[in-house]
Amino acid sequence: MRAGTLIRCADDVRRLHAAFPDGRQAADALLFAMYHEMAHLLLTQWRHPQADQEATADEFATTMMVMFELGAKARSHAEAWDAKGTVTDQLVEAFAQDPHVLTRARAAAVQQWAADAALVARWQPLVVPHMQTALLERLIQEPQSWTNLELVQQEMATRKRGKALTF
Ligand SMILES: [Zn+2]
Repeated sequence: MRAGTLIRCADDVRRLHAAFPDGRQAADALLFAMYHEMAHLLLTQWRHPQADQEATADEFATTMMVMFELGAKARSHAEAWDAKGTVTDQLVEAFAQDPHVLTRARAAAVQQWAADAALVARWQPLVVPHMQTALLERLIQEPQSWTNLELVQQEMATRKRGKALTF
C-alpha cells in the first residue's frame, strides 16, 4: 500500500476513460479501482500479512463488492477487461509505470472470485470482528446469502460479554 493512493488522481481517471471509452465500463473500472485501494487500506489497518499484495487486494475488493451487492459490477468490469485483448494492451501500456498493471490474469482471477459462492464466507472470519454492532444486529435479523450466522452471533455474544464485564 502506497500512502495517498486511495484518491486516484485525475490522470488515472483520464487513463481509465481512454482505455474504456464506454462510459459504463469506465465507471465500473473506477469503482473497482476504488474498492481495490480500500482493500489495501483496510487490510493494512487490520495488519493482514498480505495487505500489500495486488492479488489479495483484488480478492478482498471483489469480496466487499459482493457484500455490498456490487458483485455484478465487479464481474462485468472483469469481463470487459478480459474480453478486449486490444483494450487490455492499451491498458497495460497506459499503466506501465503503475504497480496496478491491468493484466488478463488479474481479470480472470476477479471473474473466478466473483463467481465463487464461497468467497465471502472465506473472508468472514477476518471481516466480522471489524463490523459495526448495528450491522451485526441487522445481519442476525436479515441474514444475507453470504452471512455466516454462527460467526456473527458469536461476535455479538463476545461484545455483549465484553460490555457486561465493564460494569
Ligand atoms: Zn494495489
